[in-house]
Amino acid sequence: MTIKLFWQDPYLTECTATVTEINGNKINLDQTIFFAFSGGQASDEGTISGITVSEAVKQGDKENIIDIEYTLGKEPSFKVGDTVTIKINPERRRKLRNLHSAAHILYYLTEDVIGKVKIIGSNIAPEKARMDFLYEKPLNEVIPQLESKMNLFIQEDHHIIMKNNEEKQDLRWWTCGEWKMPCGGTHVRSSGEIGSITLKRVNVGKGKERIEIYIEK
Ligand SMILES: [Zn+2]
Repeated sequence: MTIKLFWQDPYLTECTATVTEINGNKINLDQTIFFAFSGGQASDEGTISGITVSEAVKQGDKENIIDIEYTLGKEPSFKVGDTVTIKINPERRRKLRNLHSAAHILYYLTEDVIGKVKIIGSNIAPEKARMDFLYEKPLNEVIPQLESKMNLFIQEDHHIIMKNNEEKQDLRWWTCGEWKMPCGGTHVRSSGEIGSITLKRVNVGKGKERIEIYIEK
């Protein structure tokens, strides 16, 4: 099982690791800071001992990340047991961290404004995050209210704490005050870090709503 340093410290952008497996240009490591696409959050970008990582794939189910396989841009010269250096793009990670936390906040504040909703999709990319859910009425009218509620909540600088699940080692909880949901992503320590956000409602067909989140910085 790969040790997920991105859970222990989602602010780390460089670390060393030991190579545990090599198959051509695919490798596994004993520990990592390099996030692999999971729960809608995009993968990190970066290098392993100077070689660009072309793909990071998690091995596990749903929110669980058991192991991560990295596909490198070329076959490495290092061997199993060697120490490698992992570097990730700090700016991309910062945006993903901010937007992932923002997406969770949006979910709860949306429920505050319009009541319980059924989520049918979500995505966290560096440019924007989105949340799709079932809802009968177009949300245009409540977007300004939701946006100001969200900016206020962000400014209030609420603590975000990630907790481990006692029974399932690889299941983590995202918590913020009373709010709690399972999540394997990377998050900010407090909402104030997110900065100012804007929301955009996107028409995705009858009975469905999409809200996109953009951050200023
Ligand atoms: Zn999440």
